[in-house]
Amino acid sequence: EQLANQIAAGEVVERPSSVVKELVENAIDASSTTIDVTIEEGGLTFIRVVDNGDGIEQEDLLTAFERHATSKISTSSDLFRIASLGFRGEALPSIAAVAKVECISSVDTSGLAHRIVIEGGKLTANEACNAPKGTSLTVRDLFFNTPARLKYMKTVQTELGHISDYMNRIALAHPGIAITLKHNGNVLLRTLGTGDRLQVIAAIYGTSSAKQMIAIDASDPDYELIGYISKPELTRANRNGITVIVNGRYIKSIACNHALLEGYHTLLPINRFPLAVLEIQMHPALLDVNVHPSKLEVRFSKEQELKALIEAAVREKLGNLR
Ligand code: ADP
Ligand code: MG
Repeated sequence: EQLANQIAAGEVVERPSSVVKELVENAIDASSTTIDVTIEEGGLTFIRVVDNGDGIEQEDLLTAFERHATSKISTSSDLFRIASLGFRGEALPSIAAVAKVECISSVDTSGLAHRIVIEGGKLTANEACNAPKGTSLTVRDLFFNTPARLKYMKTVQTELGHISDYMNRIALAHPGIAITLKHNGNVLLRTLGTGDRLQVIAAIYGTSSAKQMIAIDASDPDYELIGYISKPELTRANRNGITVIVNGRYIKSIACNHALLEGYHTLLPINRFPLAVLEIQMHPALLDVNVHPSKLEVRFSKEQELKALIEAAVREKLGNLR
């Protein structure tokens, strides 16, 4: 069982940013309105995610760290209309297999909470404590018991880069959640949770960039697009400034990026790229998120239609500026 967990961990937990991603997505799934992420040394020694969400009942706390103990899917047909970010029930046990994990959670505002500590898969504390409503998950010394994996970790700066990039994009995906990221005591990101995506763009890319964005909105019977793209005055040298969000999930989609750039490059030089945030809503049945454990890649069942919609929307918005 411990070995199975370590093997599963290899798929889910590639590096510190994968831990941050799984914990933050759990916090989002728990309807949190604030999520505070604190890390040290690029997340290699310390990652803490504190949320004010639903919390975990005491009797469910241990089960949450068992494999396939998701509370998010109860029938196999649920698999075809996944609305929550997590659904495999693999993240917590995988993380606990390769790190020292402390979880404190409370489901109400009574101040009463429960705390467990699991180190390399072994339970070392299980007791009542005091904490506000929500969940605090701390992950220390990632890969302490899998030295081969630890050897593959890059510099603090590289690991921090992955975490910071993920946090920026999840903040763009969830402007209604107040999100902070702190590294070695410095605040790297703070959003207000007002629901205003331009505020998040300002927090990440600066106020002057936020002022250069134009709103996108378009829809057809299957897809609804909203978001922002930068005016021709504000271009970037690479495509890293493009964020695509599908049903609340930050994803990597070559198809969507390509469509957006097709539209953009009919009016702008091909060596320039926009700052853009594109949020796409669709019925979950049109989307297959079960492609890879990291869930970053997805498949669309009507990809050509979606691409045409994105391309036309971008071309029209930019064309209108002329
Ligand atoms: P999954 O997200 O795929 O269900 P996880 O291993 O990530 O699996 O989490 C297991 C379960 O623990 C979740 O289904 C959820 O019930 C509970 N859980 C984890 N993190 C939180 C959190 N921050 N707030 C509330 N419940 C949580
Ligand atoms: Mg999860």
